[in-house]
Amino acid sequence: MTTQGAPLVEVKDLKMHFPITAGFPIPRQVGAVKAVDGVSFSIQPGETLGLVGESGCGKTTVGRTLLRLYPPTAGKVLYDGKDLSTLREKDFLPYRRKMQMIFQDPYASLDPRMTCGDIIGEAIDIHNLGSGKERMDRIYSLLDLVGLLPEHASRFPHEFSGGQRQRIGIARALAVEPNFIVCDEPISALDVSIQAQVVNLMEDLQDKLGLAYLFIAHDLSMVKHISRRIAVMYLGRIVEITDSDTLYARPMHPYTLALLSAVPIPDPVVEGTRQRIILEGDPPSPVNPPSGCRFRTRCPYAKEKCKEEDPKLIEVGGNHGVACHFPVGA
Ligand code: SF4
Repeated sequence: MTTQGAPLVEVKDLKMHFPITAGFPIPRQVGAVKAVDGVSFSIQPGETLGLVGESGCGKTTVGRTLLRLYPPTAGKVLYDGKDLSTLREKDFLPYRRKMQMIFQDPYASLDPRMTCGDIIGEAIDIHNLGSGKERMDRIYSLLDLVGLLPEHASRFPHEFSGGQRQRIGIARALAVEPNFIVCDEPISALDVSIQAQVVNLMEDLQDKLGLAYLFIAHDLSMVKHISRRIAVMYLGRIVEITDSDTLYARPMHPYTLALLSAVPIPDPVVEGTRQRIILEGDPPSPVNPPSGCRFRTRCPYAKEKCKEEDPKLIEVGGNHGVACHFPVGA
């Protein structure tokens, strides 16, 4: 779907298929896990795009493939108009600095043998961004930026709370002055009471530094607050994408409707009367997705056409894209 102005990041028909091999002594490919199977979107400078879907829908793989942590099977990733897919590793290094990641589990993503200062300093060292006093000053200012204290630099990850560890993860990502950060479920491992603090910090940093985020989450309640636009993923594809207000007020894909019906409403009267949409069964395997619409095996609105034709993501007006033959409310 189009957005105004030149995008900072553009993803075009991105595919990430993980090969399945069998046979000995010479293994051969017998299939593929189509974790991401033709995903396109763009992100403006300073914008947050939320990417939402159940576990296993491919959203984390989109983030990792975008940063070339996985080599894409097909498709393009453009940063500031430059096609990164064709670059050799050496030529990609300056772009790696501009595109960083914050991980879901702030404990597992921090080396327990390194102090907080060394964790942040490692990124500074890799990209030659300072040494000696300049390096330490930079570490202290990053700690301050994420709400930590200078004395925290000499402590180890186990000495921090979950929220503080995620702040260290954010400081590490910011150490190389990125413009774009993939936030892979950055708050889902945290206590509910801490989640809002981390989201507020990320919003403050976005305002101060002009950062763009791809904010990955498994439910819609987490992304509403922070995202200007939201893309909903199902089985390796985006099924709906639009601005967050429209998505919440007028969802058109049956899967989005089901996800939204699971978001708690903080009004007991409304919460008690509304209808939950319970999806039957688990998502199908990405090795053998269903024919036609991938959601048809769980869709309460499925018809014969859904079995035969794969619905494309088409714009239904006002930058609202839906991949469904029979969008709800159309
Ligand atoms: Fe449901 Fe058919 Fe739309 Fe797929 S195309 S979401 S099966 S109505």
